[in-house]
Formats: sequence, C-alpha cells, structure tokens
Amino acid sequence: MAGTTDAQAPGFYRRRIGEAVVTTVNDGFLDIPFEILRGVEICEMHSLMRDAFRDGAPRLTVNAFVIETETNTILVDAGGGSTTVYSMGRLIDNLRAAGFSPADFDTVLLTHIHPDHSSGLMGPGGEAIFSRAEIVVHADDIGFWSDKSLRDGRSPAATPYLASADMVLEAYREQFRPVSGGVVAPGITQLPLPGHTPGHSGYRLESGGETLVIWGDTVHVPEIQVPRPQVTSEYDIDARLAHENRQRIFDYVATERLLVTGGHVHLPGFAHVVRNGNGFHLVAEPWQVVV
Ligand SMILES: [Zn+2]
Repeated sequence: MAGTTDAQAPGFYRRRIGEAVVTTVNDGFLDIPFEILRGVEICEMHSLMRDAFRDGAPRLTVNAFVIETETNTILVDAGGGSTTVYSMGRLIDNLRAAGFSPADFDTVLLTHIHPDHSSGLMGPGGEAIFSRAEIVVHADDIGFWSDKSLRDGRSPAATPYLASADMVLEAYREQFRPVSGGVVAPGITQLPLPGHTPGHSGYRLESGGETLVIWGDTVHVPEIQVPRPQVTSEYDIDARLAHENRQRIFDYVATERLLVTGGHVHLPGFAHVVRNGNGFHLVAEPWQVVV
C-alpha cells in the first residue's frame, strides 16, 4: 500500500463547451432522509436506490461550476460554505486546486437562493468573499426571500431557509442583478424553472456550436427523480410546479439531445437524458482526457 492514503483527489473536472471551459467544482455532500421525498411509495425509492447500487439514504452531491468564456469568468452557484453543515464548504479549496480565487470572478449566476447554493458566497462571519462579482438571480427569488411576512409560517418549505437567505441578501445587497430569463452574459441564457423556489432557474451555455444546460435543482436525487419525475421534495416551495418544470426540462434536453449538468449530479457531472418508459434515464458522460 505504498503511497496510499484516504485523501481524495481535488474535486474538480474540466470540460470544454465550444470556446468556453466549464469546470465542475465539488463543495461536498448532503445526506437526506427518504422521508423528505414525496410522490412514490418509500419501498419503490429503496428499490430505485438498490437498482443504482446506492446503499442507505440518499447522499446528495453538492457542486458549483466555473464557466470561462472570452468575456467573463463566471461561478454558477457557490455551495453551502462554512455557515451550513460540516459536509459542505469545500468550494474555495477546490477552486484554488483548480487555479481560481474568489477575486477572479466577475459574475455569479445563482440557480436559486437556498443555502447549499448561495451560502458559500460568504465567509464564516457572513462576509461577502466574491467582492467584485455581480450576483445574477431570477427576480422572483429575490422578491420571495426578501418578503418579511414569510415569517408567519405560511410557507413551511421556506421557513428553515429564511435566515440563510437574509444573510446572503444582506452581504451582497449592492451586487445583486435581478433578471427574468433571457441572456444574462454573452452566450448564456437563464431558463426559468420555477417550483422548487419561485425564481429557480437553469442556465444554458452556447459556444462554438455546442450547448450545455445547467439545470439547477431539477433533481436532488438523480437515482430516484430521473426515472420518476413526479417525485418532489419537502424543499419545494410549489411541488406541483416543480414537477411540471422537471418534466418540461427533461423533455427539452432529451428531445434536443443536450448535454446537462446540475448542482446534485454526481461527478464528473456531465450527462445526457434519454426517455425510458414513463420516466427518463441519465447517461453519464465518461471522464474525458484532454489531448
Ligand atoms: Zn440544492
């Protein structure tokens, strides 16, 4: 066992999309109980996990992405940071291992304002660490999470995340650029996919004739929600709408045969979606050696 330790290789992976370079950057993981998922019997969830050779309750991968284009250096989502749970917060170390520091980024594209995507924008004291980046997010997420009357408990799915949303909205209040779909940077379009949160969105990158869709939290547990798109979660603010938009984006990327990735797609994180019965199947792209 000479030279062997338990230390893993740094959690990043690069892939070229046309002229752009996309780097998946791992922030850690999140363990969740089956009970937060809804829409099929729990025994069927166990069976789908066994089919995927995954033991026990779902372990969610938590990823962010770097997009380097001719004009911009962009971070898509930022992981959970040190303000959430111990199993996340590896973003900065993995960014450094990939050759980036927070000051490199001119733009952050958030898929939505949940702590496993936005709390990593802040240091341990809640301070902004992406000091020169504009923070792009759908206007409906800013509107929703800024609504102080939500503290009345009317939206139970939102209640646990009000404090973390407040922190990021406060830390970056001068840097937010609310948008409502459309082009957000050269070659990059925001795709609104509301339901999981009111402004939940994906982003489509087009460069040199190639396309990548980053679909945000379209799936939390790909082993279950790709074959059964009707499976929603306790995290969804509007579960019915989340299901509709999951089905819609699956249909779109399957029909167009587009490459996809997302915050909770397992590393190296790039895949295609194909139809399979009433559901879909995720075909992971193999690791690519750049020559
Ligand atoms: Zn998430």
